[in-house]
Amino acid sequence: MSSSERLWERRVCIFDIDGVLLDVSKRYDIAYKTDPRKGRLFWQTFFSEDLLKYDVPLEIGIQNIFRCVNEKKRVIIISGRPKRLRKATEEQLREIGVLKEVHYQLLFLREDDDYRKSYIYKLEVLKRLAREYVIEEVHDDDENFLREIERLFPDVKLYLYDNGRTKEFRRQRLF
Ligand SMILES: [Mg+2]
Repeated sequence: MSSSERLWERRVCIFDIDGVLLDVSKRYDIAYKTDPRKGRLFWQTFFSEDLLKYDVPLEIGIQNIFRCVNEKKRVIIISGRPKRLRKATEEQLREIGVLKEVHYQLLFLREDDDYRKSYIYKLEVLKRLAREYVIEEVHDDDENFLREIERLFPDVKLYLYDNGRTKEFRRQRLF
């Protein structure tokens, strides 16, 4: 295998799930009504398995997964969802047709008792992955996460999602 082929294999696109591959606004609204201050109850509700049925596929994110695959980049998912939702999450990814596109099933979810801001958890995973892979793109709807990446990994292409809408973010393409 030539070194250029090896590089090929190591190029990855990182995707979030909620707000990127799935429109979660209904689940968000229900959680918000239970706890408008967005405390523990909000997150418990937002991450309740029963409410996942309200999620709707977001075409733009799904298309970007297939574009990455076509460009011979690997797809890895880092989500702030807790690990207890792994099975239900895999089922949702299967339903929207992207589960088998995820490189070696690399789907990172948070520990169930990890209540830190999700971008802090995601950055930890990203830094670990950056030792092994060439991170080319990150697709997320969390501006804080993208700003941190911009600071630490200035060459990574950042895609900020806003539920299928476009909005301005400093350097890169937005959805
Ligand atoms: Mg998200």
